This record gives sequence, C-alpha cells and structure tokens, in this order.
Amino acid sequence: MNILVINCGSSSLKFQVIDTETSECIAKGLCERIGIDGVITYENLRVKSGKIKTETQIEDHKKAISLVLDALTDAGTGVIKSLKEIGAVGHRIVHGGEKFTKSVIIDEDVIEAIREVSDLAPLHNPANLTGILACRALMPDTPMVAVFDTAFHQTMPAKAYMYAIPWKYYDEYKIRRYGFHGTSHSYVSKEVAKYLGKKPEELKTIVCHLGNGASVSAVEYGKCVDTSMGLTPLEGLIMGTRSGDLDPAVVDYIAGKEGISAYEVDQILNKESGVYALSGNLSSDFRDLWKARHEGNRKAELALEAWAYRVAKYVGAYVAAMNGVDVICFTAGVGENDWEARALVYHYLGYLGIEFDEEKNAATRGEIAEISKPGSKVKVMVFPTNEELAIAKETYALVTE
Ligand code: ADP
Repeated sequence: MNILVINCGSSSLKFQVIDTETSECIAKGLCERIGIDGVITYENLRVKSGKIKTETQIEDHKKAISLVLDALTDAGTGVIKSLKEIGAVGHRIVHGGEKFTKSVIIDEDVIEAIREVSDLAPLHNPANLTGILACRALMPDTPMVAVFDTAFHQTMPAKAYMYAIPWKYYDEYKIRRYGFHGTSHSYVSKEVAKYLGKKPEELKTIVCHLGNGASVSAVEYGKCVDTSMGLTPLEGLIMGTRSGDLDPAVVDYIAGKEGISAYEVDQILNKESGVYALSGNLSSDFRDLWKARHEGNRKAELALEAWAYRVAKYVGAYVAAMNGVDVICFTAGVGENDWEARALVYHYLGYLGIEFDEEKNAATRGEIAEISKPGSKVKVMVFPTNEELAIAKETYALVTE
C-alpha cells in the first residue's frame, strides 16, 4: 500500500510517499514559506529524475497539500496515476498529551482531542491540525492516522514524569514530562532488537537520538521508562540551538537583568542557545563545529565537549534507571554520521565494560553498524532512524486492522 506521510510545520510541509510492501520511499518533497510566498520541492524517486523546485504562491496548507497531490499525480513527474493509489495518510503530530498513548485513526473526536492539547505545543499542534484538515478536504475518502511524538513515552512511570512542583499544576494544566522523538525511539529500539535476533522484551536499550534536536531514552524490555525531553523539547541534552537542562532560576535572572519577558528568555533558550551559543554563535551544525575545532577554535571545542558530556551523563543516568543496559544506539543526523562526536561520548562509557571498536566507529556513516567489539559486555550500535517509514508502518497497521 502507498502511504502519504505528512509532517506539517507552521510555514512548511514535508511529505513522503512510502510503499509499505517494499518499505521504499517512492516520492518526497517539501513545501516551504507557506503563507509568505511559496516554494515546493518534489522528487520522484522511482525515475530518479532529480529534484524539481517550483516557486509558486502557497497561501495556506490546503494549497500546499493540493500542490503536493498535483505533483504526485502529474502526467510527467507523477509517481502515481490517481489519488486512489494512496491507501492512507499518516500525519506526524507533535503532542498527544496524556490522551494518546498510541497512534489512532483520525475522526472528529481525535481532531477535537488534538485541538484540546494544543496548549502544550502551541507552535506545532495547530500546524499539524491544518495538515489534517487540508487532507480531509481534498481526500475525504482516504483514511488518515495520527502518529504522536509523545505516545511512545506514555509508559514512563510517574516517578520519571512528575516534576516536583505543586500538584495543582499537574491537575489543572497537565504540567509533567512527556518526551518527544517517540516515533524514532520506538522504531530504533524495536528494529535494533530485530537486527540482533532478539525480542524487544529481552533487552534494556538506551537510544541516543542526536540530531539538531536531541534526546536520550531508556527502553526497558520494549517500554520507555525515561526520556530526556520534558514538557517541551527544551529539556535534557544540549542541542543545536537549545540549552537543554539548566537551573530554572536562570529564566527570571536573565529576564530581570535584560528587562525582557519570560517568553523572550524562552525564545533565547530555544533558538539562540545550545552548541550554537557555546561555540560563540559559530554554528549549530556539527560539521562546522568540528572544522573550527580542528583549526584550534576553543569555543567550538568547549561546545563539543559540553555536548558529549551531557549525553554521557544521561546514558549513565539511564543505566541506573534500568539497573543495567544491553545495547546503546546512536541515531539521527549527528548520531549516524559524526564518528568524532560518537567517540567523544563513548570514551566516558568504559566503566560499563564496553570495548570500543575505534576503527569501525571511524568508518561508519549513516548505516547500521556494531561499533563495539564482538566480546563487549554492552553492545554499541549505529542505527539509522527513519521516522517517515515508522509513521507509514503504523498507519498501514491501523488501516488494515
Ligand atoms: P533534525 O531532524 O533535528 O533537524 P537531523 O537528525 O536531521 O536533525 O540532524 C541534523 C544535524 O546532523 C545537522 O545540524 C548536523 O549537525 C548533523 N549532521 C548531519 N550530517 C552530518 C555529518 N556528515 N557529519 C556531522 N554531522 C552531521
């Protein structure tokens, strides 16, 4: 079955068509600058004709979806002949609150429930909803599924998800830790078990999803028991431009000193912090940071060291949380491609009895690989994530149930 996977942001829309029989992505693209002017990039991967980039007015998400559907069915560039060849649509939804512990088929009640939890992700959920409504208007008979970034983490016990603040904030506003990147943590932990010839129920796994946004999760016997992101994706690791953990008193202190609002400080912690800030506003991209580091830039060096130190601390915490670990996985842009960053983290973990295969690590980019030696007490793996494929698989499973 062909599944259209939609990931809708406030001014962008990423899409892929995945053939679930082969797990192959057959077409993909991106609509950008929605509501501003508009650019659509489209690629038919069946004919490998290269990317087609068209500048055109995209006034809203409905127009974006209609352009996507036109591109997919176009007589010249299309990958399908008619929309009937799309069996279902899978939507990535950032926040499912406590309502959604797994993916669901979208109906009126689900739309209303996603709207209700929008307060928890005011930038993302409304954008995700516009994608659902636009698809429903243009493909009313095609089933649609919502796949939530938070759902996989709903198995966390209260001791892991509660903040030690007055109950009323949880009771009235549902303030607690939720975690994100759930589709990736779920996919990698399940697929790595399959790769090792085990069931997820047999393994204690730590997944390090290290991209521009980054999080670590502890997956004990197939269930997430802790993860580093919290109420929002700001908590936890040092990221591209996000600070990760800090003393919450910092917010008020900066606001007072600079005469700015808590909201403005929040924006700084989300968009102007992380390795970008530590490197002296050099870059949030690890390729730039390593280049500068090799040229002797001390701030770039500190950014990388602090980033790795934080990842290692979370790994250590999750070994404690699960009273052991069998596999540690690196995934996402940095985790899959940046062997030097992996090595920085890795060198803190010798106490676990890991024997690191330095050569294998240095040679591994974007592919499945075991980067610990065969006799190592704990396996360390590079395991590429594929959130779109995971969404397509969940969607297929639900619509064929
Ligand atoms: P997100 O989905 O959060 O935007 P990704 O998982 O795509 O992030 O990761 C993007 C980041 O991965 C880039 O900002 C860059 O730092 C890093 N990255 C990508 N490719 C490489 C590479 N070849 N070497 C080092 N870092 C890389």
